[in-house]
Amino acid sequence: MARTPHVVVCVKQVPDTTEIRIDPKTGTLQRAGIPSVLNPYDVPALEEALRLKDRFGVRVTAITMGPPQAKEALQRCVAYGADEAVLLTDRIMAGADTLATTYALWRALVKLDAEHPIDLVICGKQTIDGDTGQVGPGIAHRLGFQQLTYVIRLREIDFDRRTIEVERVTETAREVLRSRLPAVLTVVKEINKPRYASLPNLIRATRYEPIVWNGQNTDLDPNLCGLKGSPTIVSKTFAPPPRDHQCEMIAAADLDQVANRVVDAVLDHPVIRRLREAPAVAGVAREAAPAAVRGSGG
Ligand SMILES: Cc1cc2nc3c(=O)[nH]c(=O)nc-3n(C[C@H](O)[C@H](O)[C@H](O)COP(=O)(O)OP(=O)(O)OC[C@H]3O[C@@H](n4cnc5c(N)ncnc54)[C@H](O)[C@@H]3O)c2cc1C
Repeated sequence: MARTPHVVVCVKQVPDTTEIRIDPKTGTLQRAGIPSVLNPYDVPALEEALRLKDRFGVRVTAITMGPPQAKEALQRCVAYGADEAVLLTDRIMAGADTLATTYALWRALVKLDAEHPIDLVICGKQTIDGDTGQVGPGIAHRLGFQQLTYVIRLREIDFDRRTIEVERVTETAREVLRSRLPAVLTVVKEINKPRYASLPNLIRATRYEPIVWNGQNTDLDPNLCGLKGSPTIVSKTFAPPPRDHQCEMIAAADLDQVANRVVDAVLDHPVIRRLREAPAVAGVAREAAPAAVRGSGG
């Protein structure tokens, strides 16, 4: 291939999950001043791109749409070994849902493709905050690229013949898919074991300034960005009520006694009691329960 193949990795900076705060007015996540991390699902996505760099010398670009402080997530990518990084940031993109996010990323990828033709886009399976899993397929659709999701192994890739073969996981099976480049992959965490950042790359990352693009130089329509371009309305946000877990330690001389106490506790549980009172099951429940617990070595 005359030109260097180009692999782009989409990454997102996400709040460190122990510090989630929601803006009560807009219903969107408060990001300023909250410790943030590189989305854990995006680290193996980047690693897969770096392995293609090791094998084929591809060019690796990391891109993120986010607030100015998302620059740190891109510097992390450079520390791992990315060649370039693009920060797509503009107030018009704030509060974007997945439709508006894929629109903005699509425009930026079109601009990047014009500069260095893109052969492969790699995304994580999901983020740990929005975790819709919609961005990868949304980008593929808008770019008109093939999409291969939940990829657990990149079996073969041929940049000259424009072919790719992957193994993907479904709920019940593994599938082997063969497709054409350019393509968008979404990868699961188990696809690889990410490398550690090397010292030279760590030093490079501390001084690295990402390329910064905004709504203007990516030709974005403000009506399709951010809250304005988001059909998803967050009507209410609230923390789910804490569950009251009760725990009782059962001390008894022998297992049979423990089993009996467990059976009694199960049969006495409000849900089971309501079930047992239901005419249909009353007879059955009384017979079956003790045997079931013993059977399971409980
Ligand atoms: C708690 C919460 C709930 C939300 N619920 C919804 C909802 O129901 N519907 C909705 O449309 N939006 C929702 N959003 C907004 C949504 O998070 C944003 O649109 C976000 O930018 C993309 O969606 P995601 O986080 O679900 O990404 P996912 O689709 O889960 O991300 C998959 C992959 O896409 C790439 N990616 C994702 N975001 C970016 C980015 N900003 N820059 C570069 N690459 C990226 C990464 O590779 C990532 O691994 C929610 C946000 C929060 C915080």
